[in-house]
Amino acid sequence: MPDFINAVDPDRLTQFTRRLIQTPSLSREEQAVSRVIQDEMRSLGYDEVYTDELYNVVGVLRGGEPGPRLLFNGHIDHAGVGEMPDAFSGAIIDGAPYGYDGEVIYGRGACDMKGGVAAMVHAGAAARRLGLPQRGEVLVTCVSREEIAQGEGIGHLLKNGVTADFAVSGEATGLKVYLGHRGKFEMRLTTQGRTSHGGYPQGGVNAIFKMNRVLDALQKDYPLPSHPVLGPATVTALDINASPGALSPIVPDRCNLIVDRRFFPEETQEDLLAGFEELLAGIKAQDPEFKASLEPLKWFPAMFTEPTEPVVQAMSRAREAVMGQAGDFGNWYFGVDGTFLNQAGIPCVGFGPGNEFLAHTPRDVVPVDQVITACQVYTALIADLCGPNSEK
Ligand SMILES: [Zn+2]
Repeated sequence: MPDFINAVDPDRLTQFTRRLIQTPSLSREEQAVSRVIQDEMRSLGYDEVYTDELYNVVGVLRGGEPGPRLLFNGHIDHAGVGEMPDAFSGAIIDGAPYGYDGEVIYGRGACDMKGGVAAMVHAGAAARRLGLPQRGEVLVTCVSREEIAQGEGIGHLLKNGVTADFAVSGEATGLKVYLGHRGKFEMRLTTQGRTSHGGYPQGGVNAIFKMNRVLDALQKDYPLPSHPVLGPATVTALDINASPGALSPIVPDRCNLIVDRRFFPEETQEDLLAGFEELLAGIKAQDPEFKASLEPLKWFPAMFTEPTEPVVQAMSRAREAVMGQAGDFGNWYFGVDGTFLNQAGIPCVGFGPGNEFLAHTPRDVVPVDQVITACQVYTALIADLCGPNSEK
């Protein structure tokens, strides 16, 4: 077996991770970090490095023989800093306060996901040291605009013809193999009433009181499915307001509720809307005065890659080769760009350093040893899928 452990240069990888964190890169402000990544890829000996007008970076490693194309994906933007102190220090500090043995790298984007990006970029270099890829091609895609939009950066690459047979998302999984995440559907639910003077409410129909029935039904009567890996679907309310106005004595004739429903790949938008319509019909059956409407607002697709997919199997083997165990499958609580790869027909598996629950928090850190281990596992994956003895 090739020596995946020693193929990785841990000091250089750690320094590169720190440099990424020390380079601020809010969404749409990725130019500087994009340059840092391109320079690193070039000096690590990638066969080709290119960028585009969104500052996406793609590094390519070519094998000498035909074979599969393996795509690594990570995003190079980070969430807003908020109150996080010294957010771009990239300091190496004791991990104990964060629940880790050993040292962690501190800074905005550390776990989401500059640690993962650094590990992917250096896996290319480690693979090269082992004479890989021998067959096919490895693409390391570092994309912009993940945090603010619906996969704008990765969407741009896919639209421009980037494709692959297998994909890996390096978002934080705590070094477990992840299969996907629930989707998110945001919708505006409006109840309609009839205005009257606030001093004579019996002359109107109060849309807020009608919404009260909806809130009740959502908590008591709305059935939610469950998924063996992705867990339970959920529904919650994000915002509520009424009109015409807060400070005038008018019984409101409109009340708006923003609903957040987390769903599974099997569920379509039509299914979800039908479920809500049914709930509203149930209320109407008891209250003929009840009137409500639905308006879809946002849709982020669910992601689920079957455990039988070759890329999932290969990732489990790679994890076992480096860490001794394939481990259990898991899923993210948030959405990742991997969902757009799946939608494009490129089966995507998740594996990355860091704790997903620290993402976007002031406790944003990534353990040094997890970044190094992730890099070793990625290198083992390249050997598995694009190595000499692979029959896939
Ligand atoms: Zn992320």
